[in-house]
Amino acid sequence: MSNNATVKHSSENPFESMMSRFDEAAKILGLDEGSYNVLKSPQKAVIVSIPVTMDDGKVKVFEGFRVVHNANLGPSKGGIRYSMDVHLDEVKALAAWMTWKCAVVGIPYGGAKGGIKCNPRELSKGELERLTRSYTDLMVNVFGPDKDIPAPDMGTGQQEMAWIMDEYSKLVGHSTPAVVTGKPLVLGGSLGRVEATGRGVMVSTRSALAKLGINPVGTTCAVQGFGNVGSISAKLLQMQGMKVLAISDVTGGYFNPEGLNVEEAIAYRDNNNGTLEGYKGGKKISNEELLELDVTVLVPAAMEDQINNENADKIKAKLIVEGANGPTSASADAILNKKGIMVVPDILANAGGVTVSYFEWVQNRLGYFWTEERVYRRADRVMKQAFEAVYQASQKHTISLRIAAYVVAIGKVAEVEKLRGKFGV
Ligand code: NAD
Repeated sequence: MSNNATVKHSSENPFESMMSRFDEAAKILGLDEGSYNVLKSPQKAVIVSIPVTMDDGKVKVFEGFRVVHNANLGPSKGGIRYSMDVHLDEVKALAAWMTWKCAVVGIPYGGAKGGIKCNPRELSKGELERLTRSYTDLMVNVFGPDKDIPAPDMGTGQQEMAWIMDEYSKLVGHSTPAVVTGKPLVLGGSLGRVEATGRGVMVSTRSALAKLGINPVGTTCAVQGFGNVGSISAKLLQMQGMKVLAISDVTGGYFNPEGLNVEEAIAYRDNNNGTLEGYKGGKKISNEELLELDVTVLVPAAMEDQINNENADKIKAKLIVEGANGPTSASADAILNKKGIMVVPDILANAGGVTVSYFEWVQNRLGYFWTEERVYRRADRVMKQAFEAVYQASQKHTISLRIAAYVVAIGKVAEVEKLRGKFGV
């Protein structure tokens, strides 16, 4: 894969996209060859075949993954994705991003990611439960509250986390809520977890706008993806006085130059099988058109590789805040930098989710639960401090916020790797 911006876009491999940023940051840090080789390689990659008895009595076998990229800073942490696009290189990239993300915000976790190649919308609740429990059975020696702690990601949510918690607890013989985060509140979930990623996106947007000298009130934005991250980011940005001109999901985009009513769109989605299909609050546009709208802030909050070397030149936003993981391909970075667009990178912008996941794990271990106000206050502080540290690093080295975030993160993980030795698990 080339990083040459003139190369025709052909869905960049996310692991290579991650590695090209890693390489840039490693050069700036002067990382020695040994550390470079250790930190680029996932410590563990497990692939399982998951047999599931379907509702019609037939047995289907699904492919499942769990990659632990690095566990030097603490137990590894990362979500589980259910999607037909899941493949090993994607999971490896997402696991590495988790390592860097936890290090950027300074929480004592390493990075991991899991996934099952499936279309969750085509599975019944019973099939999803059997799939999730079987995956947990196969991963019982990988997961653990002091080893590797899963969480939700695309296509999974509180229900899957409850099944994982229950199955793992049965297997080890005692209730173990801290083995997974993103659980329902009654099962030891944390107040504020559902909103955490979107809230972090909002806090990062405010911090970045302040650096650009732009008042959020009346500032326009477009949000791609209307799931957990996209819809909550859109709602909270609107609550800051911003005008949300467009939203989108897998069914396409919806654009209103006067500003959409985000609460109304969320209610529509919730009563419409989880999608915006048929939503009349805005004119129908494509996801591609949404990215190229003339707005001040663009929040890609759906999936990888949405801003790439084919469309980066057409982006008009002044600020991109990456709610999704890997929404900008490495080859698009140079184009955006040249255009002077500030990008708050995924490993910083969407780290609010893992921060409150960490708070959930802390509360599970304490057996004592915090108020929503305390969760928000502490998470906002973590996000603001992380933004400032990354911003300072970008000023110091005259580099983009993305490479600065990698420099901060890789610097920390490399330091710990030196202190602990080569085998951090
Ligand atoms: P989700 O499943 O709740 O929502 C995903 C949204 O993206 C849905 O609205 C879906 O319709 C839309 N979508 C799917 N394919 C699309 C396409 N081709 N074009 C446009 N929209 C499309 O997932 P989520 O939890 O909101 O995660 C979204 C992104 O944020 C992912 O990259 C995920 O890794 C990242 N992320 C999530 C969290 C979290 O706490 N949930 C934390 C950090 C990062």
